[in-house]
Amino acid sequence: MEPRRKVLSIVGPSRSGSTILSAVLGEVPGFFGAGELRWLWGRDLAEQRVCGCQTTPAACPVWSRVVEQAMGVSPEEQSGPRLADALQPVVSAQREITRLSNRRRLLATPGADRRHSVALDVLTEATVSVVDALLQTTGAHTLIDESKRPQEAAVLAAAGRFDHYVVHLVRDPRAVVHSWRRSKPLPASTGSAAMPRRGLPKTLMRWLENCSGAEYLRPHIDPRRWLPVRYEDFAAHPRATVQSILDMLEEDCEAPFTSDDTVVLGPNHYLSGNPSRFRTGPVRIVADSEWQTSLPRRQRLLVDVATLPFLLRYGYPVAGAALRRAS
Ligand SMILES: [Zn+2]
Repeated sequence: MEPRRKVLSIVGPSRSGSTILSAVLGEVPGFFGAGELRWLWGRDLAEQRVCGCQTTPAACPVWSRVVEQAMGVSPEEQSGPRLADALQPVVSAQREITRLSNRRRLLATPGADRRHSVALDVLTEATVSVVDALLQTTGAHTLIDESKRPQEAAVLAAAGRFDHYVVHLVRDPRAVVHSWRRSKPLPASTGSAAMPRRGLPKTLMRWLENCSGAEYLRPHIDPRRWLPVRYEDFAAHPRATVQSILDMLEEDCEAPFTSDDTVVLGPNHYLSGNPSRFRTGPVRIVADSEWQTSLPRRQRLLVDVATLPFLLRYGYPVAGAALRRAS
């Protein structure tokens, strides 16, 4: 019997650990980590961004075949105008769906509201074609898309062509704010000097937008196929957390760890994601709680007030001062 074809969307704000979670899941036999499909059309293929295998997509043994199969552009033409022509309608459709009113409609009623049907049809067909080609090319039965935005998960949920699952990955917003404000050097093997930085207002806005979108989408996904995961729980118990994801996916296999917190990462084909996607070999997963001693008190209180409903919903502790201000 053919194995069921599954797609797992990782939804959640940036800097919540999606890259390492996706990398661990990508080590499960039969799984393929596709990176962030949301960037495929407008950036990764258009700009020929370097793949996790250190080549351009046009030279990558996986992506060059996927583009040929899904878009009908031969590897020799994937750096030229034929690929740009094939990408353009998908980029336009994605832009139209990203407009706030269209996005909210898609999240609240995935697959039911057809008022923006042309754009949704174009993006759905392009996404399904790429997923089909990735599964066929790699021989995997389960694909992981760590696009993080709820709208990409809504498109996959509405496509109805795969068994679709969601991991909703959240991290304490005070830790996310701290992660964006600090200048953290990266290992030389990642090819980048440091992680990019972002200010408090933009970080908060994006965090709230992502969490609101996820809550719009959640009621429309079968609860047996939606798993909330907190970064802090994943970092404290990596093997057990990944095992719970495999259980949700109805996979009868062990999480790919060599100990409770260590995993050996092999080469991957991520086109997007944080620069740590280039890391291979043994990786120990440890909690990063630097924010608790380094985030200035004033910023911490601002984050507490702005995110209070979500802090409570996701079970994060709230400072008493924030509660008094919000009441
Ligand atoms: Zn590659």
